Order: sequence, then structure tokens, then C-alpha cells
Amino acid sequence: MAERNPAIVVVDDEPAVLAAVARDLRRGFGERYRIVRAGSGDEALDALRELVRRGDQVALLVADQRMPGLSGTDYLVRAREVVPTAKRVLLTAYADTSAAIQAINEVSLDYYLLKPWDPPEEQLFPVVEDLLTGWEAGAALDSGGVRLIGHRFSRASHDLRDFLARNRVPARWLDVERDAEARQLLAVAGVDEDRLPVALLEDGAVLERPTVLELAGRLGVAGHPASEHYDLVIVGGGPAGLAAAVYGASEGLKTIMVEREAPGGQAGQSSRIENYLGFPAGLSGSDLARRATDQARRLGAELLTLQDASRLRVEGSGRIVELADGGALSASSVLVASGVSYRQLDAPGFPELTGQGIYYGAAMTEARSCADQHVVVIGGANSAGQAAVYFSSYATRVTMLVRGDSLSKGMSHYLIEQIDALPNVEVRLGSQAVAAQGDGRLHALRIRAADGSETVEDVDACFVFIGAAPRTEWLAGVVERDERGFILAGLDARKDGWPLARDPFPLETSVPGVLVAGDVRARSIKRVASAVGEGAMAVSLIHQYLSEA
Ligand SMILES: Cc1cc2nc3c(=O)[nH]c(=O)nc-3n(C[C@H](O)[C@H](O)[C@H](O)COP(=O)(O)OP(=O)(O)OC[C@H]3O[C@@H](n4cnc5c(N)ncnc54)[C@H](O)[C@@H]3O)c2cc1C
Repeated sequence: MAERNPAIVVVDDEPAVLAAVARDLRRGFGERYRIVRAGSGDEALDALRELVRRGDQVALLVADQRMPGLSGTDYLVRAREVVPTAKRVLLTAYADTSAAIQAINEVSLDYYLLKPWDPPEEQLFPVVEDLLTGWEAGAALDSGGVRLIGHRFSRASHDLRDFLARNRVPARWLDVERDAEARQLLAVAGVDEDRLPVALLEDGAVLERPTVLELAGRLGVAGHPASEHYDLVIVGGGPAGLAAAVYGASEGLKTIMVEREAPGGQAGQSSRIENYLGFPAGLSGSDLARRATDQARRLGAELLTLQDASRLRVEGSGRIVELADGGALSASSVLVASGVSYRQLDAPGFPELTGQGIYYGAAMTEARSCADQHVVVIGGANSAGQAAVYFSSYATRVTMLVRGDSLSKGMSHYLIEQIDALPNVEVRLGSQAVAAQGDGRLHALRIRAADGSETVEDVDACFVFIGAAPRTEWLAGVVERDERGFILAGLDARKDGWPLARDPFPLETSVPGVLVAGDVRARSIKRVASAVGEGAMAVSLIHQYLSEA
């Protein structure tokens, strides 16, 4: 039904401009989207509320910046409360560009479009198509496919939700305590509440208490290698691994990428990466992972997820990556891009309550459940800062516990400014959580303040970001590492026993033909852009290696 198509809502006080935008959007997207017009911000807000009341979806908001009454930015701020998932575009004149750039922070603007946008085929359609593809991907994830029913504070439920979200499996989460529909579905499926979590699949299958691997197997997420031998095996699907997959496959190498959890790595958990070149409005880690994964696949790379590389064997010029499930991949070259993993907090109560109110990383699947709650974020670096900003739009109160005496030691200036501007985020310097309390779910944290005094405070959810370490034990005895487990490369890797007359290439490890890129490399810069750059550079060095082998 055409009238149930998701809506694009356009607002402009100038009738001629409004008509022109609506006409062009209809021409480009009218078959899939309904174009709703409004002559002022207030009128548009009324239209949005009516759409939401009727259960209609809103995909995109387009607003002129200069309007009497509510300006475009003010309207978008208010519209965000009504339709938080809609993409936001500001129409501006060239003279208003700085207002638009300012709005990127204020409204989390997705794009600003300069007037006039002629020809629309070049200036309007590609931008809008890109935004709508991103919105559609998110909407599909929330609406379809698998229904997962469980208790919010169950670790098993959390792990399954996280797996579904990070692997972009369309799924709907139903909390058995809050959703009446969950209880009805359980009754229909004949499942007792003590058999939760349960996954209801589209083909009618009912999986009681599945493990992540069982669910992945049933959904066909993991995949199997198509060949026995590859030019390049990449271990790790973060930005470095994904970049290498894109460059390797596009430059004719038979390439496979093995990823233990889900493509995206740490970056996939970032709520908003603001410093990656070419994305002036920032982009979420899951968006980056989706784009890179699609790109790598389109160019011909194979991606193998939920597979753990467990050992590297060197057999003459062959390099064998053994997998935890017993399989093995033979390769002419290997790139280790396995990044780093969060360090765990070992204060009393933390291990027991992990997944039950305590989470490592941003665990964005939990954000919506944090509405009206008190959230604590532990850590003082960028990842913690991003999480505090992100959760502040859901939770009533966010408390940041920072061990150091200043945020500026570990956090970028732009994030400190954003945090300062948020009334519901409190930063406590010199403080730390010394214990977690709860019974099957987190209830409170014991917090030690800068002066040494301790208080016990009610807390609903706690997200921990206290640094990360490489997990490279599987390479022990084969590839040289530093004392912290980071992998040595280039001249640092040239130790006794280096078998070639030439020096190692800059990203080459102590084993010729095994390269390293990204956060797992000793002395690397821990940034998305550097990981991507090293992934690309590694492919060029691998070409050199293969050409002389
Ligand atoms: C919350 C958060 C926010 C961040 N925000 C920013 C930001 O705004 N800007 C910025 O520049 N940087 C940011 N960073 C840092 C950035 O994400 C990292 O520098 C970057 O992701 C490193 O990429 P990588 O590919 O080297 O490793 P990772 O991203 O760590 O990816 C490594 C991958 O390898 C997989 N893996 C590990 N071992 C194995 C194995 N044995 N077998 C198979 N797979 C394995 C892991 O599951 C993981 O997916 C952020 C980090 C975090 C945690």
C-alpha cells in the first residue's frame, strides 16, 4: 500500500523551494517513500506526531535552516525526540555553511545540503540514497526475522542479542518481564519460562537456551571456506582486517578474512566515530562495519565469522592458520589484524555480574533498556567519553568514574566539550568502582571518591572501558611479540633466525610472509584511520613478498 510506505518529511517556509525539494525527492524515491510536506517547523512536528500515532515509519527529515519561528536546527532537535531513528538533513545556503557544521554536533546532523542541489542526479540522489540505505538497514534489523525472548539481566540473553545485532541479523528482542507479547509467544510455542532464552526462527523452529554457535549455525551466519588455499588469510575483521580484505580482493588476491565475533572489531562498538576522514558528520561503528563488509564481499573477499584462529603453522613457504573448530586454512601469506580486547575489572562482584548489568564496551543493544535509569561509565578515554554521550540520550543520569585527575589526559577535546554541555552527565575525577552488588542483576556500586571516602549508590547498568590488551597467545613461539603481547614488525622483528637476506618489510613480523596491521602491532597508533591505512599498506607489501617468493 503506497500510503504505508515510510515517510520523508520536508519542511521549508518558501513554497517554491518546498515544492522543488518535494518534486525531486518524489522523482528519485517516490516509489519507496511517501513525501510529506510542511511549511514550518511546528507544522512538521505535528505531522511527525500524527505519523507516529498511526504507527507509520519516518526515514528522513529534510529541513531548511532559515525559517521564521523554529529554525531548521531547532526543529531537528525537537523532531529527534519524536522520531529518534530518522536521518536528518539540513538545507542551507552557502552563507550558512558554518551554522550547518555547528549543527552536526547539536543535532547529530547526518548531512547538510547546499542550495541549489542541481543537478539532483549528482547533488541530491546519491546522498539521500546513501542515508536511506543506512536507515533501511537499521529498520530491517529491528523489525524482522528472529524473535529472541529472555530476561534482560541474563548473560545468555545478552550474548545472543549482542551476536544478532553485531552480525546484523534482523531480530526483535522481547523482554519477558516487560512485553506481554513475549509471554503470549511462549505460551503458543509451549516453552516454560525456565527454558529461556528462546529464539523463534522464521521457519518456525524454536530453539530453547541456544548457545551463540548453535544459533549462528541454524541461521547460516558463520559460513564455510570455499577453497583450501588462499593467497591471503586475514585474522581479525576490525578496520585493519576489513581494509586488507577490500584491497586484497580488489587487487586480485584470493582473500579470506576470519573473524571471531562479528566484522567491525572495536570500531563496530563505537556509537559515533567523528574523526574518520571523509565523514564530516561522523558515522557509527556499525555503519562503518556494514559499509566495509558489503564492500569487501562485493569485491570478492570471503568472510568467515564466528571462527577463531587458534594456531599458526609454518611449513616451508606455506602458512597454515588453524581454526578452533578443527579446520585449517592454507595460505601463501597471512595478515594478523586481531586488535585488542577489553581488560576486565576484577573488583568483587564484577565477574559474577558481567552480562547482568555490567558490560564491557558500549553494548549498544542495551541502550534502549536504559531509558529512565542511572548508568555508570567507568573509564576516562575516548571510548568511555563516546559511551557517556551516547547513553545520555537514553538514561536519566550518566555518571562517569574517572581514575585520573583530568579528562584531557586521555580524551579528545571535542568529546570533553560535548560532555560538558550535557546536563545529565556527571564526571567524577579521581574516583573508582571498588565493588559491584546485586543478586542476579546489578543493583549498586561501591564507589571510592578522590578523598578516599566510599559510598554505595544505586546503579542500573555499568559500562566498563578500562583499556585493552592484545590476545596473541595463539602466536606464542611462532611470531615474536613484545613483553605485553603486541606483535613486533619491521626492523624490530629482525631477530636471530630471520631467514632472509633482506630486512623485514615495515609491517612484516619475524616470520616472512606473515604481516601485522592495526592495534595489535607493537607501537601502533590506536585509531580507525591508522588501522585502515595499515590494512591497505599490508596488501601492497604482500604483493612484494609474493612476487619475490
Ligand atoms: C568504543 C570505542 C570507540 C572508539 N572510537 C574511536 C574513534 O572515534 N576514532 C578512532 O580513530 N578510533 C576509535 N576507537 C579505536 C579504534 O576502534 C581501534 O583503533 C580500531 O578498531 C583498531 O582496529 P583493528 O582492526 O586493529 O582491531 P580491532 O578493531 O580490535 O578488531 C580486531 C578484530 O579481530 C578479531 N579477533 C581477535 N582475535 C581473533 C582470532 N584469534 N581469530 C579471529 N578473529 C580474531 C576481534 O574479534 C576483532 O573483531 C574506538 C575504540 C572503542 C573500543
